[in-house]
Amino acid sequence: MKILLSNDDGYQAPGIEALYHALRDIAEVEVVAPEHNNSAKSNALTLHSPLYVHTAPNGFRYVNGTPADCVHIALTGLLGYTPDLVVSGINNGANMGDDTIYSGTVGAAMEGYLFGVPAIAFSLTDKGWAHLDVAAHKARELVNYLAPSVMAHTQSAAAGHHEPWLLNVNVPCRPLADIRGFKVARLGRRHAAERVITQVNPRGETMYWIGAAGPAKDDAEGTDFHATQQGYVSITPLQIDLTDHSRLAYWAQSAAHLSAGLVGGPA
Ligand code: MN
Repeated sequence: MKILLSNDDGYQAPGIEALYHALRDIAEVEVVAPEHNNSAKSNALTLHSPLYVHTAPNGFRYVNGTPADCVHIALTGLLGYTPDLVVSGINNGANMGDDTIYSGTVGAAMEGYLFGVPAIAFSLTDKGWAHLDVAAHKARELVNYLAPSVMAHTQSAAAGHHEPWLLNVNVPCRPLADIRGFKVARLGRRHAAERVITQVNPRGETMYWIGAAGPAKDDAEGTDFHATQQGYVSITPLQIDLTDHSRLAYWAQSAAHLSAGLVGGPA
């Protein structure tokens, strides 16, 4: 099994080192990761400046770009082959609910998925790397379990059938003995983010800092928030189609009214 490993915290982050060491005896692992912290960059690509790839003494390659840049250039020429699996993380902090829209950790995995490669994003629910060894251990367990399915996908992709999958995985920050197992979960929701923080620079100009993510709003049973609070590793299969299928008919009516020249907005 060939794994492309990336992250959004940067190639020097403890999370990617731990994951690399956890996976390298069950797969051939190549690292292509951002040079600097690129958290919350989602699937952003760098289009208006050149990207450079350098190799660190430990063999990790790093790029002056985003997580999606790393996976994109790896899959479109840098590697010279298609990996069987793209893995991202382990992120410094949770990526649950709405976080998945902003997350660069998810973005790196999603870039692999967009190219037809199965992908997994791993995050540790608390910042600060406590119990990182536990998260790496659980990540290895999951990847090892999925290896046959990953290899089967590579075989069927070679035959022209593409059904990649994308998993978002959050590991609760607790000792191994306190992890109760794995649980499939839907995404929960967060409250709106905290207020923007303002400061004044030495030249009297106001600076704005994006505030922290909001607390959980929907952490009902069945969500990723609930599963991790209960001590389970949450596994959420993600898809990319953002279409609101339940409201297609409603907006079709508006489109028909507009086409007929009606004014005044939807009934
Ligand atoms: Mn991050």
